[in-house]
Amino acid sequence: MEKIVSLCKRRGFVFQASEIYGGIGNTYDYGPLGVELLRRVKDSWWSAMVREREDVVGLDSAIIQNPKTWITSGHVGGFSDPMVDCKKCKSRFRADKLEDARCPEKPSKRPGACEGELTEPRAFNLMFETNVGPVKDSSSIAYLRPETAQGIFLNFKNVLESSRLKPPFGIAQIGKSFRNEITPGNFVFRTREFEQAEMEFFVPPGTEQHWFDYKDELAHYSNFTSDIEYEYPFGWGELEGVASRTDFDLKRHSEASGVDLVYFDPQTKEHFTPFVIEPAGGVNRIALTLLIDAYEEEQLADDVRVVLRLHPAVAPITVGVLPLVKKEGMPEKAKEIGAKLRRAGLTTYYDEKAAIGRRYRRMDEAGTPYCITIDGQTFEDDTVTVRERDSMAQSRVAVKDLVEHLAAATQAWRRMR
Ligand code: ATP
Repeated sequence: MEKIVSLCKRRGFVFQASEIYGGIGNTYDYGPLGVELLRRVKDSWWSAMVREREDVVGLDSAIIQNPKTWITSGHVGGFSDPMVDCKKCKSRFRADKLEDARCPEKPSKRPGACEGELTEPRAFNLMFETNVGPVKDSSSIAYLRPETAQGIFLNFKNVLESSRLKPPFGIAQIGKSFRNEITPGNFVFRTREFEQAEMEFFVPPGTEQHWFDYKDELAHYSNFTSDIEYEYPFGWGELEGVASRTDFDLKRHSEASGVDLVYFDPQTKEHFTPFVIEPAGGVNRIALTLLIDAYEEEQLADDVRVVLRLHPAVAPITVGVLPLVKKEGMPEKAKEIGAKLRRAGLTTYYDEKAAIGRRYRRMDEAGTPYCITIDGQTFEDDTVTVRERDSMAQSRVAVKDLVEHLAAATQAWRRMR
């Protein structure tokens, strides 16, 4: 993890938030490469989940909703992790994750393995509170959403009526969620502010069962749940949760608001509250997983190269544009070719500083799948060198064929996916 964290800072993927003020606990900002990675993760998710399907539509609901939302959903009462405190080091740990936890003391121990006594587990509410309007009293309390899903349930009727879809259909949303996590950590794996990508799939009751055969870690609204986990350097962790949320949320919101959230099927003349299947992933965790998965220290004949083998669909930069030397018209030619590539929709990065080998390595670390080099020969036959990140193979390609060549190479990757 230390290597990933250091690469993220060095190359501008992730910075500590408020760094000049000493930071703010477990909060991160995404730099020029990080924001591109996040956007590509979200674009890929949105394409697969919404645009490539005819039975799923999108939504972008507000972060602060009427506070009754969270009372009805059960989050005000039940959205809490049981926590224990170590009386010696004063650290707080999730009571259900003691096996995986380590205390901040040096040497770090499992909670309870030092002389410190652990308190009884206590509930800790994870929602951030704020006040809406000029007066700060109990009537103005509102919450920052801890999941994007509730905004979808609140809009179930609006979407149903405006889109004329009928169950089974889904509503997807990507957006920030906030949880006052008491044990954040492992870099961007668990933070207090994060982005979720969730889809609520509304199905006729009784048809949801075949989605799952495994039941574990049930949330308070769920009758079966399964997690998709990844083995991080710090152990297994959830990447995406897939839950069958039953008709709990729609029923509760119907009761509490007095607005009927029942679906009427005009064909069968049946009234029913749909059941909900929910895949809920974390955008930041997916980005972290991609970085960890892509990171490699490759042993070469005379040294070690750090390379991020990111798929071109998520790589922040697609093509590095490099003049061999900073003279003889090469920078101008390189900029001209770079502009042509950008007009064709490719993301480019221009670099003329340092020896060409060093520049290739910088692009390898940034996960850039291709580099093109403009050299003396370019002025003779209008070709450039295309260097491929993974194999480091180089070939000469005519400038006029460049867009097609890079598109074909990227397509080859897509087929691999
Ligand atoms: P965990 O068990 O790790 O706390 P969760 O089961 O509470 O996660 P969900 O409520 O299912 O998580 O949220 C869906 C997804 O949102 C998770 O799979 C994860 O990728 C992401 N996520 C949840 N909490 C955080 C967080 N604090 N920081 C970053 N991502 C998060």
